[in-house]
Parts: sequence; C-alpha cells; structure tokens
Amino acid sequence: MTASATSTARLLIVGPQGSGKGTQGVRIAAAYDIPVVSTGDIFRANIKEGTPLGKQVTAILDAGDLVSDELTGALVRDRLSQPDAASGFLLDGYPRNAAQVSDLDGFLGEQGAALDAVILLDVPREESIARLTLRATEQGRTDDTPEAIAHRLDIYEAQTAPILDAYGARGIVDTIDGVGSLDEITERIFAALALRGLVRTAAV
Ligand code: AMP
Repeated sequence: MTASATSTARLLIVGPQGSGKGTQGVRIAAAYDIPVVSTGDIFRANIKEGTPLGKQVTAILDAGDLVSDELTGALVRDRLSQPDAASGFLLDGYPRNAAQVSDLDGFLGEQGAALDAVILLDVPREESIARLTLRATEQGRTDDTPEAIAHRLDIYEAQTAPILDAYGARGIVDTIDGVGSLDEITERIFAALALRGLVRTAAV
C-alpha cells in the first residue's frame, strides 16, 4: 500500500443517463480508494427497503422527475460528513442543477474543501437511449420506460448540462469521450486525473 495519508480526491462524474458513469464511477472509486456517493442508488435502496424516504420518492423516480433540492441536499450533506468521505469521494448524480451546485459548494466550504475535478462523460443522445433501452430489458428498472428515459435526458440537457458551465469556469472539468470499450474509457479518465496531479492509491 503506497497510499499517502494526505492525498484526497473529491470528484464528480457527470453524464447523461446511459453514459456509463455508474460503471466508470465504481472503477474510479476503487482506484482512488474513495466511496461512490450516488444519490440515485441511495433513493433506490430506500425504495427497496420501504423506508419513509423511499415511499416519499417512489413516484418521483418512476416519473423520471427530480426529487426536491432540499431533500436531496440534506441526504448528500449527511453522507459527505461520514468518516469514509473525509479524504475524498466520487459523487454520481449530484449536483444535478444550479441550485444543487451552490448547496454542494456550501457543504464543502464548511469543511474547507472543494471539488478537485469534474469528469464529463460525453455520449451522444442516441447512444444513451440505445444503452438505456438495453438496460431496461436486462435489469427491469421501473424508471427505464421509453417515456421516462426521454424525460430524464430532457432534464439532463436542460438542467444538468448547464452546471458544467459553472465548473468549467473554475477550470476543473475534464471532458472524456464516453464512446469506446469500458477499459479505454477508464484509461482516458485516469490519464486526465493524473494530469491534475490526483494520485491513485490502488492499482486497478
Ligand atoms: P440516477 O440513478 O442518477 O439516474 O437517479 C435516478 C433518479 O433519482 C432520478 O431520475 C431522480 O428522480 C432521482 N435523483 C437522483 N439524483 C438526484 C438529484 N441530485 N436531485 C434530484 N433527484 C435526483
């Protein structure tokens, strides 16, 4: 183990649904020894367990709409304050709009921290739709109906893509071509993060 006690990586992965960010996120988190914080996964786990939060958000997820900024923000704030996220994390699915960007700035600012890099997985809309349609048949996700898929991509284009302007102005966005083999895409991401001096702690 060559991990340096001082190395941190506070990362965000952004891309349309179906861009492969879940898969790539797991690989990045393993390489940097940081937890993945996926708001979608947290919501789905709560729905599966039938918690009050799960009951509150089921219909919202099924419709492909966004859960309120307040509820989602409180969840993320709580998750990021847990010990395993102290030296870094990979956010997936949050922030998703301009208000959530400022909420996140607030949480991190309280800890004297900030995002180190935003990985944008660039995948054309048609490719996203094809991958999501395949996932719907393979995994049977209830929010992978054609209508919900189209609706989520519309929300992504209208609300989430613009957050990249804010992060772009800070010079922390790495745009990665998200079309190719899984390994090729992982290597592109690692190369971009290495250029920022972000040190991997594990060989993956
Ligand atoms: P995802 O797995 O990231 O595609 O998220 C699945 C669903 O969870 C979304 O369609 C939203 O309904 C909800 N969700 C996830 N992250 C957020 C967020 N940051 N803000 C609001 N709703 C979210």
